[in-house]
Amino acid sequence: MAEWVRTRVELKGRGFDRWFLDSGRPGYRVVIFGGVHGDETEGVIAAHRIAGTALGLKAGSVTVVPIVNEEAYKADSRLTPADGANLARVFPGRKDGTPTEQIAYALTSDVLLGCDLLIDLHTSGRTLDIPFTIGYIDDGRDRKGLSERAAKVFGADFIWRHPIRPPGRTLNGADAAIYTEAPGAGPTGLDNAIAFSDGVLRVLDELGMLEKPLVPRSSKPAQRIVGGNNVELDPLATRQDGLFIHRSKSGQKVKKGDLLGLVVNLKGETLEEIRADVDGWVVSLKYRPQVTKGEPVAGLAVADDRYPMTRSLGPA
Ligand SMILES: [Zn+2]
Repeated sequence: MAEWVRTRVELKGRGFDRWFLDSGRPGYRVVIFGGVHGDETEGVIAAHRIAGTALGLKAGSVTVVPIVNEEAYKADSRLTPADGANLARVFPGRKDGTPTEQIAYALTSDVLLGCDLLIDLHTSGRTLDIPFTIGYIDDGRDRKGLSERAAKVFGADFIWRHPIRPPGRTLNGADAAIYTEAPGAGPTGLDNAIAFSDGVLRVLDELGMLEKPLVPRSSKPAQRIVGGNNVELDPLATRQDGLFIHRSKSGQKVKKGDLLGLVVNLKGETLEEIRADVDGWVVSLKYRPQVTKGEPVAGLAVADDRYPMTRSLGPA
């Protein structure tokens, strides 16, 4: 029976633990990240629920880095304290770069090399509210279609297809890559953490890597959405400074013109209405109240009408 091997990747005081389980047989090489953003605790819990656990692995290998950015995690911060940088924006990193770039480089060279599927476990952090979503990149690099297969079985409420791969993301580290998001700007959502680890186990089973399924298949229907955007890039922005008042919920279905939120002044008087510019679903809402002119506050994604997917897959 294969045993987990835990090793320490040292990086001048900001290293990380890497857990590796090798079946010794051919199969997919799956990598799981928690704690890329240090204030997102659910993925950290989910990754720890996988690392060291007897999976009954019969094919391929599993690598888990449960807390990728330890320095940010200890500071309860989205960003790396040493340089204020976002680890999920500097991939593939640089060997002699900033502290954050060095972490990215170590992950790229020591962990992601040869990876068939990256599962990057994120949640809303402290600034956004996002529904339970599994996102995947559909830019043509994933020739085996692993990320779409993985997203389909994960068990999230939304399956978000991204036709483009924004630069610098952790998700650039592998041709096939999926990521999670979940509500909970604030206290740890333990149910979400468990849903994440269950989702990962479903993916490993889907890829033929487990002797037997460890959790039941999800029977929950998922809404398929699409957008080239990302929770920080394209959302609707304010035209005023003020306080943002929610008039919608993350995950809510909306029609073009529906009220999503208000910007109010310090008397609570409305300065601006934020309305949906398309029919779709609210996939991100700014959680903290204070907003400045031009700041993104609400993001929408539209129904993905491309499914079932008909694109022919290239040679494996
Ligand atoms: Zn994140």
